[in-house]
Amino acid sequence: MPETLDMNHLPSPEFCVQEVRRWTDAMPQQPLAYVHSFGCQLNVADGEKLSGILKQMGYGFTGDIAKASLILYNTCAVRENAEDRVFGTLGSIKKLKRENPALIICVTGCMTAQQQAADKIRESYRHVDIVLGTSAVSRLAQMLYAVMHGKKYAQDIEIYTDIPEGQEAVRESSFKASVPIMFGCNNFCTYCIVPYVRGRERSRRPEHIIAEVRELVQQGYREIMLLGQNVNSYGRDLENGMDFPALLRELDKIEGEFWIRFMSSHPKDATPEMMDAILACRHLAKHLHLPVQSGSDDILRRMNRRYTVSQYLEKVRYIRSRDPEFSLTTDLIVGFPDETAEDFEGTLAVMREVRYDNVYSFIYSKRTGTKAAEMPDATTDAEKSERMQRLLALQREISVENNRRFLGRTIRVLADGQSRKRPELLTGRSTENMLVEFAGTPELIGTFVNIRITETHNGLVTGELVSV
Ligand code: SF4
Repeated sequence: MPETLDMNHLPSPEFCVQEVRRWTDAMPQQPLAYVHSFGCQLNVADGEKLSGILKQMGYGFTGDIAKASLILYNTCAVRENAEDRVFGTLGSIKKLKRENPALIICVTGCMTAQQQAADKIRESYRHVDIVLGTSAVSRLAQMLYAVMHGKKYAQDIEIYTDIPEGQEAVRESSFKASVPIMFGCNNFCTYCIVPYVRGRERSRRPEHIIAEVRELVQQGYREIMLLGQNVNSYGRDLENGMDFPALLRELDKIEGEFWIRFMSSHPKDATPEMMDAILACRHLAKHLHLPVQSGSDDILRRMNRRYTVSQYLEKVRYIRSRDPEFSLTTDLIVGFPDETAEDFEGTLAVMREVRYDNVYSFIYSKRTGTKAAEMPDATTDAEKSERMQRLLALQREISVENNRRFLGRTIRVLADGQSRKRPELLTGRSTENMLVEFAGTPELIGTFVNIRITETHNGLVTGELVSV
């Protein structure tokens, strides 16, 4: 059929799932999909849902791209070099399509939600069959249905506001699960492309979130990560009055041994109610990632962050007044356009005051399509690098000192894998999200264990197993 297939009136996604399933069932061998997600945890969570749909449509999975009948790249647009990597990858798989013309290549995610990126793929990467934006979870089956009916190129980069529920996910971990609670962002920070590619904030209904978390806990998941671009504005678009602190308190009623974490939270929406809920809820990890981005009011204003340094610090003081050891981490951007030496000193001053357990720092990188990309910037690359080195040195010092507080204590840790540098040891994360290494057998991975901290050295925290 037909290139005449009317792409504006495709059958429902549910019908398309069944039709593609009939098609794959009729194949001599189960077709295999190779799925790769770039970027943030939200993208990885989308990738798990996309794998879930593919499974429903009869696909198995392979990590060997050469064996795949379908390749799906779920892309990221946060940095321009992330996009360059995707284009490079697409170029490198052209030969696979030449060797196997039946291969289906699909590109989805934040990058393809931008018209110019979709146009570039259509014009220059003609071996790609399907281009979908950030609403891929609800539209993938329809696009595959179109390809199955002979459509040479299927594209849908609209941002739909519907939230597909009940979609099974093929999860990468058997004990850590991500649960998106909202999609999109209303904040328009001037350096960020997300609101343009993921649309405005939409919250999932609390009953769906609670049911999903309950089921995951029953299946044995030990860590639930609630995800959203701005989780603490959760519920503003719902008419039932449920906000983020109330959602946390509801989730806390679920029985079982598990931790809840969340990201990302915006400082302007970090209310005393939210912090009280974190402290009061037994399942909530005692850790808050609160991205400050800069310690200069002028830079914060130009970033459109909508808080001042003193408002941010007030929130930090609030939570530390209730728990002096409460763990905080942050994101920092070094070298935002025209950042002065004085602005940067402000950032170091915030770090000294808050004493973060960890910081995720980035040298500002220009993102076409954002307001900050148009701002003049007289700061040289050498100055930015030198500032970054100073920031990293200060954080190393603070982390080492902070870690010392655990020496001799026994703490609860979720064992999550083998140490990369010392494979004879296991790694785990404490409620503060601190990485701990200890001797233990692989069966412990995915369980909670009690570890006595015996050594903290250069940012490495080591302990010994006390009990499980
Ligand atoms: S809060 Fe700001 S940085 Fe975060 S996704 Fe929204 S616009 Fe981007």
